[in-house]
Parts: sequence; structure tokens; C-alpha cells
Amino acid sequence: MQSPEYSSNSLDLQINGILEYVYRLPGLTCAACGATYGGSRILSISAPPQIRNDQRFMSRWPISEVEHAALQQELAGYLEEELISFVTFRPGDNFQPAYLDIPSKPTADFLWPNIRSFVVSERMKNMVFDELLDDVEIAPVQMRKVGKRPSAIPVSDTPGAAQYVELSHTNDSIGTYYQILVRSESDYPTGGRPVSTCPLCKHKSIDDEKRELIMKEEMWSGQQIFFLKTTLHVVVTESLVEKIKSVQASNVDFIPY
Ligand SMILES: [Zn+2]
Repeated sequence: MQSPEYSSNSLDLQINGILEYVYRLPGLTCAACGATYGGSRILSISAPPQIRNDQRFMSRWPISEVEHAALQQELAGYLEEELISFVTFRPGDNFQPAYLDIPSKPTADFLWPNIRSFVVSERMKNMVFDELLDDVEIAPVQMRKVGKRPSAIPVSDTPGAAQYVELSHTNDSIGTYYQILVRSESDYPTGGRPVSTCPLCKHKSIDDEKRELIMKEEMWSGQQIFFLKTTLHVVVTESLVEKIKSVQASNVDFIPY
């Protein structure tokens, strides 16, 4: 399942907008395995109030494993969560809320504003995704900058600020949109099993040259929607495709695996 192809990047932006996360854990430079990385996982957990306005939880810049573990500990304390170091939270994890900036009022059933999650209309959530809560988490999107009115109505003295006018308070015909956060995964694809796992940060090394990005029957464990493991490819079953098609969903494409 993926976005349709668009004739231009600006059309893509017009239809899908951009989904931005503000609060996150930074990347990591691990002394044990030598890797520097940060993932792009999106958690359904809201950033606790204590970390909002805290620059340490807004940067992607990699830090050491000691500093990182301390941030995870601090965060777990605010959230009153049990912490398994580098498992509960991982480098690069993003927290809610997610802000959608979109130049025109969103109308499609599916939006593709972020590489890691897709967004659906309330209609699609109700008709398709509410039944898939074993495989996905659902979190609402905050509309931030919706609609472009670069016309004669100045909204601010700042140059460029007139590009967007927030319509979300004045125009309640914009429906609620939801992030679909896919949680299920297939088994490892052929050649994609990790060659090593760091004992400290749990980072898995994969031999990209050997990995075949093909979904095979034996990799499937019964989910309707899942990531092809080690990738961001969203795979859906034939029956789910039929269901999505039967409700005339717009702005979504399917290619066979
Ligand atoms: Zn490591």
C-alpha cells in the first residue's frame, strides 16, 4: 500500500501536506558498537509536559549512550512507565502530537505526509482501521497550518507569514484526520536477519546486499496490515485491499508483492 504517483512535488504537497513531530529522543553514537543512528519510530504516547520547551527532547543530534540512557530514564519517570533501556524507547523515537501543515484543505481519504506513517479521514478510520487495533495504533492529527491564502489579506507583518492562514478555527468543515501507526511486522525477509545485535543499544546490523525485499508466504503470521520487517513498506492482505477499495477510498494505491 502506498501513495499514488503525482505529476509534481508541489501537487504531492498540495494533497498530502507535511506531518511534523516536534518532541523526540535524539540520535545515538554508541561506544559499544560504533553505530551512529536515529530511527523514525512514531509512538502514540504524548510528550509529557515536563519535556515541552526542553531542547534536549527536540533535537535529532546524536549523543552518547550514557546521556541517552539518562534521557530515557528521565522520560520514563515523567510517564510513570517501566523502562527497559534502549527497548522501551529507542534513539530517534517521536512523540505525539503530530502537526499537519497542508496548503489546501485536506479532502482525500488517505494522506501521505510522512515516510513513517500515513493519515486517514475519519470515514476511513471508522470503516476500515478501527477493526485493526491488533495491528495498528491510531492517533489524531493536529491541524496546524491549513489552507493557503497568499492574497491581499495580510495576516502578519512578517514576510512569508501570509503564505498560510489558519482556517482550522474558522472553518469547521475540515474533518478530523488520524495517523495510522502500523505496529505489526512480518518475519525477517530472506537475507535480512541481523548479522549482529549490539548488547548495549540493541542496534541490529543488517547486510543490505543480501536482503531481498520480497514478501513470502512463510514470513506472514496472520496480520492484515504490517511492515515488511526491516523496511517501511506497508503490506496489506488481499482482503483488506478489497475492503479499502469497496469503500471508494481516495489517494491510495496498491502494488502486488
Ligand atoms: Zn550499540
